[in-house]
Formats: sequence, C-alpha cells, structure tokens
Amino acid sequence: MNNTQTITVAHGDGIGPEIMDATLRILDASGANLKYETIEVGKKVYERGIKSGIENDDWDTVLNNKILLKAPITTPQGGGVKSLNVTLRKTLGLFANVRPCKAYSPFVSTKHPKMDVTIIRENEEDTYGGIEHRQTFEVYQCLKLITLPGTERIIRYAFEYAKSHGRSKITCFTKDNIMKLTDGLFHEVFNTIASEYPEIEAENLIVDIGTARLADTPEHFDIVVMPNLYGDIVSDVAAQISGSVGMVGSANIGTKCAMFEAIHGSAPDIANQNIANPSALIQASIMMLRHIGQNKPAENIQNAWLKTLEDGVHTSDMFGENSIRKVTTDEFSSEIINRLGEKPSIMEAVNYIDHQKVQIPELKLSRTELRPSLRQKRELLGVDVFVYWEPENPTLLAQRLQEATGDDFELTMITNRGTKVWPNGLSETFCTDHWRCRFKATKGKTNQMEVVKLLQSLTKYTIDTIKTENLYSFDMEPAFSLGQGE
Ligand code: NAD
Repeated sequence: MNNTQTITVAHGDGIGPEIMDATLRILDASGANLKYETIEVGKKVYERGIKSGIENDDWDTVLNNKILLKAPITTPQGGGVKSLNVTLRKTLGLFANVRPCKAYSPFVSTKHPKMDVTIIRENEEDTYGGIEHRQTFEVYQCLKLITLPGTERIIRYAFEYAKSHGRSKITCFTKDNIMKLTDGLFHEVFNTIASEYPEIEAENLIVDIGTARLADTPEHFDIVVMPNLYGDIVSDVAAQISGSVGMVGSANIGTKCAMFEAIHGSAPDIANQNIANPSALIQASIMMLRHIGQNKPAENIQNAWLKTLEDGVHTSDMFGENSIRKVTTDEFSSEIINRLGEKPSIMEAVNYIDHQKVQIPELKLSRTELRPSLRQKRELLGVDVFVYWEPENPTLLAQRLQEATGDDFELTMITNRGTKVWPNGLSETFCTDHWRCRFKATKGKTNQMEVVKLLQSLTKYTIDTIKTENLYSFDMEPAFSLGQGE
C-alpha cells in the first residue's frame, strides 16, 4: 500500500465545485490513499482585493504539499489582476503541460475515431512572460523569450514521456522560417535531443501547416511538442476534435511540484445546474495518481470511466447517437463508482500497474560540449536604437541620426515594423511612429561606454529613444535578425 499522500485541493469557480466534488467522490471510492487540504482560489479571493487570486497561507499549503488538484477558476477580465493559472505554473516552475487528447469512438462522437495525440506544451516561457510595453502612441510590444534551459527541459521531458508511455513518434511545431532565432533554437534543440533517442521517430513541422494537418488527420500524430503560445491554442483544437473540451485533463509538471486540472474553464453558462461533465478533472486526477505512483487506483478509475462511456451513460455534452442515458454530474460520478473493478469490453482496458513514472530530465546541453555555442565568445558589434518619430520620410530621420552619430558608429539601416525603409526604402511601405535604427561599430567591435555616448549624443540632438537592443556576435556569428528586405 502506498503511503498517504497529502494533496492540496482547490474547488475553483463556476462548475468547479460540482466537478471537484464528483471527482473526489470517485478518488475516495477507488482506494486512492490521499488526504486533502482545501484552499480557496479564484473569483472570491480576487473580489477581496487579492490581486494574485490566492492568499499567502494558501500559497504555503500549495508549497508544502507540492501536489495540487485544481478545478477551473474565473479570471476577472481586464488589467489590475494577474491570472492565477499563469502565476501557479510559473512560480511553481511547472515547465511541462501535458494534454492527452484521445477519441472514445463510437461512444463519444468525433470525426477522428482513431485520434490519440498527446500535446506537450512548454509552460513558462514564450510570450507568457507577460512582458509587454506600450512604446509609442501607435506601437505596443510583447516580448517573446525562448531560453536554452527552458527548451531543453521540455524537449527532454517529451522524449522521456514518449519512452515511459510506449509512444513511438514526436513531432515538433515551430515557426522558425520567420522567428529564426527563438523558434530556431527550439527546433535546433529538438533535433539535437532527438538524436539521443533513435528509437523514437522525430519530425518537424511549421506550426501553421502542422496544425492544419493535425485538425485534418490527427491519426498521423502521436506526441506533439511546442512552445507555449502555439501549445495553448493547438491543445484546445486537439481536445475539441477528439470529442469535447470537457473530457481532457491537463498535467502541469515541475521538478518539485505538480498541478493537475481540466483543460476547460469554469463554464459559468452551465454552473450550478449539475450538468457539467466532470471527465476532464477525473482524467487530471488519474494523471495525478500516476504521477505520485498510485497506479492501481488510477487504473481502476480509468477502466471504470471507459466502461461507463461504453455503457452509453453520458453527460449532456457527450450525449449523441450512441448514448443510452443522459445523467447529471453527480449521477455520472456514481455510475463510475458503481463500475470500479470492472473493465471496458469494447474499448481497450488500460494497464497502469507497471507504469514507470516519467523521469524529470537533467539539463545537459548548457553544461556539456553538446552545444558548444554556449561557450562561445560574445562580442558587441553595434546597437539597435528604437526611436519615437512621427511618420515622415525616413531619409529625414536618417539625416538627423547621422548628424548625431559621431565616429564610433555608422547608421546602417532603419526599419519600421521590421521592414527596411532606409536606405533605399519604398514609399509603398506603411510606417508607424516606431523606428528601429541600426548602428554598427565603425571598428567592427564596440563596448557599453561607446553605446552610452551614442545615446547621450542622440538625446542632445533631441532624438526620442525608446529602447535599445545590443547587437552581439557569438564566435563571430551575428546573433540578431536582419531587417525584412535587408
Ligand atoms: P470554458 O471552457 O469555461 O467554456 C467553453 C464552453 O465549453 C462553454 O460553452 C461551456 O459550457 C463548455 N464546457 C466547458 N467545460 C465543460 C464541461 N466540463 N462540461 C460541459 N461543458 C463544458 O471557456 P470560457 O467560457 O472561455 O471561460 C470561462 C472562464 O474560465 C473564464 O473566466 C476563463 O478565464 C476561465 N478559464 C479558466 C481556466 C482554468 O482555470 N484553468 C482555463 C480556461 C478558462
């Protein structure tokens, strides 16, 4: 018998309390050896003026127990408050988001009866750093950060997940034809790590055509790994086409903590009616049991759940031509409990007893010779200065900048929204009030002092600088993108 595991439970908002009660009843009946500590998160906490959506004492409970089973919460719209979901994922270091999207045909209607795809989404980086600035009257910016350790961790996790779950293929989605540095790194790390797992087929697709193919022929995919934003969108598409967003659970895995939840939201439109489908949270609780090594109750619940689906006992969102009885949230939970110990006879029963937990990967690339670029020599070649300037002929801006430049730098390019507008720009190119002005060191290399002097000089000439980005090379190789048309 496993030791008792204390977990933190959050009932959430909307349908949250209903589906959590249904799930806990099943966990209790399944022989899972769990103790619950309940915390309050979400709407009521936000309404008390706690901008994070969670009280400090409840944070301590989450940190202490390390395992959180969370029902969906309602995030207030607009500024002023932070999404608790994003805060939990980032603060607890939950780097991997795992969403298995499987069809249960013919019992739950889907156009893709053979679909069985697991989306593994990087969970902390990308544009979800939430680093946004309004820089001029017309231009707003969101910073996309892709890091080597963050990428290495998620890709290694995806391969370890494939190994422990007996999966044979991983597809990586990126947009590195456009974002050559950020998505390019993700793709490169994927290729490097894939070569360590020759038994697993590795494939790369650009995210747009990849998503189109996933929506069209999901049976060609097995595991798909991708950066945060694409994963957020693609996993909802995958869940929906597998049957219903009400049936997909989500595991957020970190090195120390883990959080398990439904992929759907708090569904305020059907709250307090006892009609919500608790399946997604039940699936999340099964992932949780497997994560903490309680494989026997996990297997019991999954087989009883499959048998319930097979018997045509469905909540209203699943109800279709192969349904026999429409049940409430509570009744669905009782039907699963009644079937604990039974196995499905048409769908394949699961066997989790000997399942090995996914190993949390050690980072190697940043510390070994595998990726020598990290040891490369970094040199400063110049600086991109972003300037606020009412839209006018860029040649005028270039003349003013050149007057202010001095001897250390040469103005080599001006772009607007990434497109080169000077030298040799086209009058057709639409321009905003946000200009990137590229200064290269006249001696080939420069330093911070010379950059500061340049900025001082630009200020003296009343150039309104918004921000700068240093132009580095790593072992002679330029580490910045070209302007469109450069
Ligand atoms: P939603 O997922 O709550 O609902 C979308 C649609 O799916 C609705 O029609 C709803 O009735 C239906 N649905 C969702 N879950 C269902 C279930 N278990 N059974 C039957 N039908 C179900 O998405 P939304 O309406 O965009 O968001 C509502 C709130 O949830 C928002 O405040 C949003 O911020 C929040 N949200 C929270 C989480 C989370 O806590 N992890 C995730 C997504 C959205």
